[in-house]
Amino acid sequence: MKSETRGIVYLVGSGPGDPGLITLRGMECLRQAEVVVYDYLANELLLNHAPESAERIYAGKIGGRHNQGQDEINALLVRKGSEGKIVVRLKGGDPFVFGRGGEECEALREAGIPFQVVPGVTAAVGAAAYAGIPLTHREYTASVTLVAGQEGKDKDESNIDWERLSHGNGTVVFYMGVTTLRRNMERLIQHGKSADTPVALVRWGTTPKQQVLTGTLADIADRAEKSAFKPPAVTVVGDVVRLRDKLAWFDGRPLFGKRIMVTRAAVQAGEFAGMLAQRGAAVIECPTIRLVEPEQWQPLDAALRDISGYDWIVLTSANAVRCFFRRLDALGLDARSLAGCRVCAVGPKTAAKIRNFGINADLVSSDYKAEGVVAEFAKLDIRGKKILYPCADRARDLIPRELGTMGAQVDAPIAYRTVLPDRLPPEAVFALEKRSVDCITFTSSSTVQNLASMLGEDRMLDMLKGVAIASIGPITTRSCRALGLKVDIEPAEYTLDALTDAIEAFLTA
Ligand code: SAH
Repeated sequence: MKSETRGIVYLVGSGPGDPGLITLRGMECLRQAEVVVYDYLANELLLNHAPESAERIYAGKIGGRHNQGQDEINALLVRKGSEGKIVVRLKGGDPFVFGRGGEECEALREAGIPFQVVPGVTAAVGAAAYAGIPLTHREYTASVTLVAGQEGKDKDESNIDWERLSHGNGTVVFYMGVTTLRRNMERLIQHGKSADTPVALVRWGTTPKQQVLTGTLADIADRAEKSAFKPPAVTVVGDVVRLRDKLAWFDGRPLFGKRIMVTRAAVQAGEFAGMLAQRGAAVIECPTIRLVEPEQWQPLDAALRDISGYDWIVLTSANAVRCFFRRLDALGLDARSLAGCRVCAVGPKTAAKIRNFGINADLVSSDYKAEGVVAEFAKLDIRGKKILYPCADRARDLIPRELGTMGAQVDAPIAYRTVLPDRLPPEAVFALEKRSVDCITFTSSSTVQNLASMLGEDRMLDMLKGVAIASIGPITTRSCRALGLKVDIEPAEYTLDALTDAIEAFLTA
C-alpha cells in the first residue's frame, strides 16, 4: 500500500470535560494518532494519551477565534489525511451534536479521505448527570430535545419550532445559550411554557470547575446576570431540574471546588491526586522533585549481583521498591534471586508495592517512619546479619546507624536520587500568585525545601499566606517550620489516606 492511501481521520468525541468520559474506542484512536487536532472544549489532559511524537494542533487557533475558520479546519484535516497520517480530530462532547462534525466528514468524503466517527458523551448528557438532573424520568417526562441556543441569532427567522418546544412537559436543553439566555427563556414563555418551569444552568459540567445555577424560566436570566454567569454552559429546562435537590452528588462531595496543590514528584503524584480528586478536589500538580538515576550504579549493582549474600533487604518507600526491582531487571535478574533473603517493608503501603513483584514482606513495620523499622529489628537478634538498604541519596542515616549499633552489617547503596526539577509548571506558579490555592500538601521534607529553593524563601512565604498547609508527618512538619511555615494539617498516621482524611476534616470544618 502506498503511504498516501494509509491516511485516515478519526472524529473522536472527547466527552464533556471529565477525561474519564472518553470512550475506550476514542482512547484507542488517540494512542495511534500521528496528528491530533483538538478543540477548546476537549480536555487537554487527553492529549497525554497520544504518542509523544504526535503533532498537536489546537484548532481554536487556526481561524483566530473559537468556532471560526471551519473551512481551514476542514482543509487541515484533508491535508493531513492525504499526507497519509493517522489523524485524530478530538472534539468536545459528541462530534455530531452541534460539533460541526458533519461538515468535517463531508469535506473528507469529498476529498476521498477515509474517516471514522467515535461518538462521545455530549454536554447535555454529561452535565445533567453530574448536576444530578435525570434528563428523562418516568414521573416527569419521556422526551428531551437538544437545541442550539444561538440558532437564528444572525438569521431573521429561526429554524427552531418554539411552539412545539413550549408545549408538553419535555425537557429542553440549550447549548451555546448563555448570551442568548434571556431571549430564549422569553420565547418559551411567549409560546405558552409556564413561567415557573424550573431551569438549571450547568457551566463546565463534569469538571472540578462545574457551576450550577438554578431558577425558573421567569428569573434565571436575572440570576445569571447578577452572578455574571459565563459560557460554556448548557441550560436545562423542565420539571426534572427539581430532582437535583435530591440527587446532586458531584458537587456535593466534601472537597468539591477546593483547589489543592500536590508537590510530589510527577511519577508519584498520580495516586495522591486521584485520592483528592475522588472527593471532588481540583488538584494542581506542582512537582518539586524529580527522581533520577544514581550518579553511579556500581554500589547497587554489586549488591544486587551478590544478593543471596544478604539476610535482609529493607525497602522504605514505593520509590525504593520501584527502583530496586527495575535495576534488578536491568541486570537480567528477577524476584527469584531474592529467594534466600528476608524482606522488610516500612508500612503496609510499601508492603503492597512489594507484593506487586510477587513477594510478601516478612516484616512490615506498622508505622511509616524509619524509627518503626528500627523498633522491629530491635526485637530480633540481628548480630552479624547482612542487611541491604537501597535508599535515596538524601535518606536519613538512622537505619544504617541504628541497625549497625545492633551488630548488623548494613549496606546502603543509592538506588535513586531526588533532584530539583528544571522548573515549576507555570500554571502552578500562576495559581499561587493569584492566591487561588486552598491547600498545599507536602509529603516529604524535600518537597517543601525544594519549593523554597525554587521560589525563594520569602516569595514562598508570601505566596502561601492564607493557604492551608498539609504535612504528611512530623519530620516534614519540622522542615516546614524551619522555613517559617505554619502547618495546619498533620495526620496521626503518616499515609496518604490519613492525610486525605485530615485535609477533608480541616477544609470542611
Ligand atoms: N459537540 C459538543 C457541543 C459543542 S457546542 C457536545 O456534544 O457536547 C459547544 C457548547 O456545548 C457550549 O456552548 C456549551 O453549551 C456546551 N458544552 C460543552 N462542554 C460543556 C460542559 N463541560 N459543560 C456545559 N456545557 C458544555
